[in-house]
Amino acid sequence: MTAVPFATEPGRTACIATVGCRLNQAESDLLRGWLQTQGFRLVNDPGAIPDLCFVNTCAVTANAEKSSLALIRSVCSLNPKPRVIVFGCLPVRAPELLKNIPGIDEIWTAEEKKSRLEDILPAPVRSRALLKVQDGCDRTCSFCVVRQLRGAPAAVPPEKVLSQFQHLLQSGYQEIVLTGLNLGRYESGDCNLARLLQLLLAQPGRFRLRLASIEPDLFTDELLTVIADPRICSHFHIPLQSGDDRLLVTMDRRYRTGDYARLINKILQVKPDACIGADVIVGYPGEDERSFRHTLDFLETIPLHYLHVFPYSPRPQTPAYGLGDPVPKPVKQHRVQLLRQWSDRRRQAYARRFISTVREAVLEPDGRALTDNYLRLTCEPLPAEIPAGRLVRLMLKPAEDRLAGRVIDAGSG
Ligand code: SF4
Repeated sequence: MTAVPFATEPGRTACIATVGCRLNQAESDLLRGWLQTQGFRLVNDPGAIPDLCFVNTCAVTANAEKSSLALIRSVCSLNPKPRVIVFGCLPVRAPELLKNIPGIDEIWTAEEKKSRLEDILPAPVRSRALLKVQDGCDRTCSFCVVRQLRGAPAAVPPEKVLSQFQHLLQSGYQEIVLTGLNLGRYESGDCNLARLLQLLLAQPGRFRLRLASIEPDLFTDELLTVIADPRICSHFHIPLQSGDDRLLVTMDRRYRTGDYARLINKILQVKPDACIGADVIVGYPGEDERSFRHTLDFLETIPLHYLHVFPYSPRPQTPAYGLGDPVPKPVKQHRVQLLRQWSDRRRQAYARRFISTVREAVLEPDGRALTDNYLRLTCEPLPAEIPAGRLVRLMLKPAEDRLAGRVIDAGSG
C-alpha cells in the first residue's frame, strides 16, 4: 500500500476513533483542534459516515493491538468508505500488520504525527480536558514496548503548556488533566513537573488540575510540597507492577516495595483524603506462587484504593520478550481475578468513607460527576441548568450499590 499525501478539504466531515491511553486521547484532542482550524466538521454520531476517518491506535498489549486492528477493519468496511488515515503506536511497532488491510488510504509515521500536531490548540470532547505536556521515555522497564515507539523524553516548553492551558480555561474547562508518557520525567530547561505545576497554579480562575500516572521514584519531595495545593486533585496513580522485590529487579523498575510504601504514606500525609491507585502486572515471567503471594501480602500493608490489573503479554522488541510467557493462562486469569476482587473491595471501602461529606466534582454529561478524589457518582436530582465541565460541590450519599451526589453549590464560571 502506498501512503498518499494528506490533503485538507475544508467543509467536509471527519471523525477520530481512539484506542488506548490518555496520551493517545490527548493527541486525538490536538488532531481535533487542527481539523477544526482546517474547516472540518467533527462528527460523533455512529450513524453518520464522515468523509475522513482517523484511527489513533495503541500497541501497549496484544489486546490493544487486536482492538486497534478491529477498529481499522470496521472503519474500512463502511459504505460509502471514508478516507481512512491510521496513526499512533501500531504503525510504528508493526507496520506489516497494516499491509493487508484493504481500504487504508494513509499511514502516518511518528514524525508525521508530530509535525502535524505541533503548535496546535487542543479541542477536547469530554468534560475534562487532557493536556499533553510530555512524551517519550528513556527507561528500560523490561515489559514496556511503548517507550520504544515514542522515543526519548521530550517536554512541551512551559510557555506553550501555559498558552494551551489558558486556551482550555477560556474554552470553559475547569478540570485539566496533565498527561505524558512518563509525566514525572517532565523537564524543559530548569522547569520540572513541580515548577510547571506552580506556573499553572499561579493563573487566575476557577480550575483544578489532575495528574496522570507518575513513576514512584520520580515523585519528588518538591512535588509532594506542590500537591498540597487544594487545586491539585486528591487522586494519584502510582504504578507498582509487582509487590515482589525480586520481580521488580527483573522488570528493571527503579524502586523497591519499601520505597513504594514510604511514598504512599508521604502522599497521604500531605493529602489524607487522597485516592491512590496502581497498575499491577500479573503472570510476568518468573512470577511463581511465592512471588504472587508477596504481592498480595504487600498490598494488604499499604493504603492503596484501587488497582488496574494487567495480565502479562510478551511484546516483541522488549527485553522480556526472550523470557517467553511461562505462566499458564489459567493461572494468570486466576491471579487477575483475585487482584480485581481485592481492588473492588478497597474501592468500595474507600468510597464509603466519604458518604455524608462534601466534595468538589466536575459535571459530566448524563448527570454523572467525578469528584476530586476520583469517585464517580450520579447527581440526584439532575442539575439540568449547569453545563458539563463545570465544577460544583456535592453532598455525597449512598444510592443502592453506588454513590450519588446532591449539588449544594453550583460554583461560578
Ligand atoms: S517508565 Fe517504564 S513502563 Fe513507563 S513508559 Fe518508561 S519504560 Fe515504559
